[in-house]
Amino acid sequence: MYKHILLAVDFSKNTDFLVERTAEMALQNNATLSLVHILDNIPMPDTSYGTIISLDDETDNALLEQEKAKLNQLGATLNVPENQRWLIWGSPKEEICALAKQEKVDLIMVGSHGRHGLALLFGSTANGVLHHAPCDVLAVRLKSA
Ligand code: AMP
Repeated sequence: MYKHILLAVDFSKNTDFLVERTAEMALQNNATLSLVHILDNIPMPDTSYGTIISLDDETDNALLEQEKAKLNQLGATLNVPENQRWLIWGSPKEEICALAKQEKVDLIMVGSHGRHGLALLFGSTANGVLHHAPCDVLAVRLKSA
């Protein structure tokens, strides 16, 4: 049913369950899988790539390197080709939705809550994506923050 699934990861505690669910969904639908992580908690890196950060560019920004490594590791685990792993600087809900449109994604997978925690249950990124997405959105219920 779905041809291109986009998994939005923030690498918070419950990411594993979201990843598991997404892998099952991609398998059942025989869908292409893309990954995105939005850099919303580190200053805009000084690169020549604009807001989309190249995953194989060597930078001296330690935080950026950590985020790249996590995304590349997850991409390798899920067999997602390098050109479908996205590291973008900006606001999560806006960048996730813009990427979904650009890449003609037909399902976005997010967690019900992540780093922003249970206090904002369904109030932050998941809710924002749901309201602005150009396609279906599946929010995987995560147990606790
Ligand atoms: P939160 O808004 O922090 O409660 O997060 C809810 C869900 O939105 C997470 O489980 C992720 O799927 C997604 N999300 C939040 N922040 C990011 C981010 N910086 N990059 C990618 N996805 C994110």
